[in-house]
Amino acid sequence: MRGGVFYSRLGGLPRARAAGEPTGTDDAMMARALALAGAAAAMGEVPVGAVVYETATGRVLGEGFNRREADNDPAAHAELLAVRAAARAIDHWRLNQCTLVVTLEPCAMCAGLVVNARVGRLVYGASDPKAGACESLYAITADGRLNHRPEVVAGVRAEACGDLLRAFFRRLRRGEA
Ligand code: ZN
Repeated sequence: MRGGVFYSRLGGLPRARAAGEPTGTDDAMMARALALAGAAAAMGEVPVGAVVYETATGRVLGEGFNRREADNDPAAHAELLAVRAAARAIDHWRLNQCTLVVTLEPCAMCAGLVVNARVGRLVYGASDPKAGACESLYAITADGRLNHRPEVVAGVRAEACGDLLRAFFRRLRRGEA
């Protein structure tokens, strides 16, 4: 999946944008998700941010950042909060027409949510070798046995997304967070 993205970027000939490559809107929304992740870090939360936008128009429908500590809620992941807000905004639980942008590869719960909510496109930043369920540990969003598979774009602003997490855990280890 990611390989496809990078190989196509390496191609020398001009070509139309293929599925699996980020759009300009994806990139702008990732910047927004990064800002949300920064807000989480400022609250002492693991910095993950998410935005849901209407794919065709770029209209933002929901946002969220990790609030596990603030809410004492093990399910208060950025994606879950953003997806719920978006479903409320469009008054429907099906998000086929939407793109979920999140700074970190979704976990098993959130990847399951992407399938259950029929999210049309999933765009994420850093891979999560410890809990990622889209390619790292599991491939829930690519599993043909499930009844929905989103288009997935991985690695968007991956370095900035990962840097934010690494800096957070560094501060945490030093007792500064
Ligand atoms: Zn999650």
